[in-house]
Amino acid sequence: MRLLTIKTGLGTRLCAERGDELVDLLDADPSLPASLKGLLAAGDDALARARKAAETGKTVHPMAGATILAPIADPQKIICMGLNYRDHAIETGAKIPEEPILFSKYPSALIGPGEPIVLPPSSQEVDFEAELVFVIGKRGRDIPREEAMGHVAGYMVGHDVSARDWQLRKPGGQWMAGKTFDTFAPTGPYLVTADEIADPHELGIRLRLNGHLMQDSSTSQLIFRIDETVSYLSRLFTLEPGDLVFTGTPPGVGMARKPPVWLKAGDEVEVEIDGLGVLANPVSAKA
Ligand code: MN
Repeated sequence: MRLLTIKTGLGTRLCAERGDELVDLLDADPSLPASLKGLLAAGDDALARARKAAETGKTVHPMAGATILAPIADPQKIICMGLNYRDHAIETGAKIPEEPILFSKYPSALIGPGEPIVLPPSSQEVDFEAELVFVIGKRGRDIPREEAMGHVAGYMVGHDVSARDWQLRKPGGQWMAGKTFDTFAPTGPYLVTADEIADPHELGIRLRLNGHLMQDSSTSQLIFRIDETVSYLSRLFTLEPGDLVFTGTPPGVGMARKPPVWLKAGDEVEVEIDGLGVLANPVSAKA
């Protein structure tokens, strides 16, 4: 099931894709939670009812022209992993990390497809990073690796927009500051439930900047795989339904190029992952 959050004249609506239409789930089954995070938190039974509603629902919104929002706008946590692709670690000259490198973004950074990435005046080096995002579906703490995939609700395309001057050259590094300016976390267009992805570690992942292919790799390059990551994170803190985990980026980012390539107003960035769709965002200067 592909789940979307859209904005209509009736407000924000949780929908499922059916052909070229979007089925309004709450209209089909008013007992369902109104948000995607709420649906995940309500558990497998609610997800089964959402599946039924997606098949039988009568109220549909046309996909064409729909205003698609970030699938989950209000996660409790946005956890990000640095240097998690073998080929990207080699590209940057970094050692293959022995433990996950973690940082975070805030929900204020989230935007959906089509919304502009706004360049902050305080950075001159804004870079792009295509990323697979997995979404927690079931609360957990100290989750054994063998049970970890049962806590993953699904996957979506993400973009870890990164101000390199802040991330790398401020005192102490300041990864978090460089990564969480407003609009620096595009996600979407939809969450694809885990049952539809046969192997999340065999997905082609690409990024195009103004139509030019800049990143082209596979999630097979992930150093810390999803099950290991869920288990690792859950030993640090409780994972909650709706939590997002950005899993790191493959090679080809702008800072690794000679000369470096930075995002500029008027650019269009597309991130694509096999089976998860295309996330396209324009880039604009701050008004
Ligand atoms: Mn990243």
